[in-house]
Amino acid sequence: MSINDKWSRRINNFLDGTVTLDEVHTQNQNSLTHILDYVSTKSPYYSSQLKNVQISKSIEQLSLKSIPFTTKDELRKVGMDICSLGMNEIGTYYETTGTTGIPTPCPRAPIDINTSGLFVHKAMADVYQETFGTTQALTAIMGPSELYAFGDTYAEICRDLGIPYVKLWPESPRVGIEKASELITNLKVKALICSPAIALSLARLYAGKGIDPRKSTVKQIFVLGELCTPEMLRNISEIWDAACTHGLYGSQEIHALATGCTEGNLHISETNYIIEIVPIEGLQKDVGELCITMLVPGAKPLIRFRTGDLASINEAASCKCGSCSRVLKISGRVDDIVTISGEKYLPAEIESRILNSLNKVEGYKFDITKLDSGEDSVVLSVTTQQTNIDVSVIEKKLTELFKAKVDLRIQDSLDAQTETGAYVSWKFARIRDWR
Ligand SMILES: [Zn+2]
Repeated sequence: MSINDKWSRRINNFLDGTVTLDEVHTQNQNSLTHILDYVSTKSPYYSSQLKNVQISKSIEQLSLKSIPFTTKDELRKVGMDICSLGMNEIGTYYETTGTTGIPTPCPRAPIDINTSGLFVHKAMADVYQETFGTTQALTAIMGPSELYAFGDTYAEICRDLGIPYVKLWPESPRVGIEKASELITNLKVKALICSPAIALSLARLYAGKGIDPRKSTVKQIFVLGELCTPEMLRNISEIWDAACTHGLYGSQEIHALATGCTEGNLHISETNYIIEIVPIEGLQKDVGELCITMLVPGAKPLIRFRTGDLASINEAASCKCGSCSRVLKISGRVDDIVTISGEKYLPAEIESRILNSLNKVEGYKFDITKLDSGEDSVVLSVTTQQTNIDVSVIEKKLTELFKAKVDLRIQDSLDAQTETGAYVSWKFARIRDWR
């Protein structure tokens, strides 16, 4: 049996319930010794990085803590040297978009594509079954660029499952959001896979033309690529009158770490990773920086990679969807933690509070400034379909919650950076600190 087949069997056994989560976690310790051996032999970077690390052959004694972290800065510095396979041994080559620094190479071997894809495959099959009762629902795949793995991942899975699809690139100069919206209407697209920013931009575009997105043929939306709180899932679902869940959480670097279910939760691809939540000073205990070790022997396994994302794991998850995987909750980026009136906030907490105060929000911008008195103050700009808004009541409520003066402005549109920023960089673009 090939190594690829062994991994497929392992994953399928977990997904169909033959193997329990506890058993997978035990097997993962075994995979850890293998992957450390693999990268030490094959990756020039890790062979020098792990040279002085005592990798115990006894699984019980092997502690991740003795192994140094891999950071994004290092990835940018070392380029191809991190890879464990030569370019003639890989499946496909991708890169990060480089919006947050020098692009890093993200080659994928067939085993990477296969092991990551099996989880996405199962998740998609379940959601289509729940929403449509069939896979015959035309789906628009809308990613940020052709160099991204995302478009290929979903196209391959759609083909496997018999889901008809159209690839639209709303920010490509050849397509654009206007053309994308026309095709969605003309083709009677039933499902969208896109960032939350695109789902909101499209709704705004339709509303601007006098078309109610709720009357469109779209009945399922998968969001990915940027922070999306449960409140934002509900908000998008309401605006479109469609079911809305996460597509997947992952990146060019780490592949599909978790996939969305019908309950709006993200379930970890348990067989493929060991996950650590690294505590951050001054933050509540269960949220920390997501740090992952990739166990699949592919083109570029990363060891103790600090993702820069804030996350928590619900260890005792028993989700109504029936998945045996734990639930991962993403709360934004570590760099986006802000302090308002002496208290630290995660981007997710800010988004939740805004969306708990307003309905059918098409976009928002949260500008933090300092008053002449030295006190913190917030200007919250919002575009919304909600009409019966009592601005002073909401201002009062948010001012009490943030212990800082909140100035609410309902606007017809937000600046271009806020409206498109999130999908150009696929990062959080809505909270800005001017202090
Ligand atoms: Zn679930």
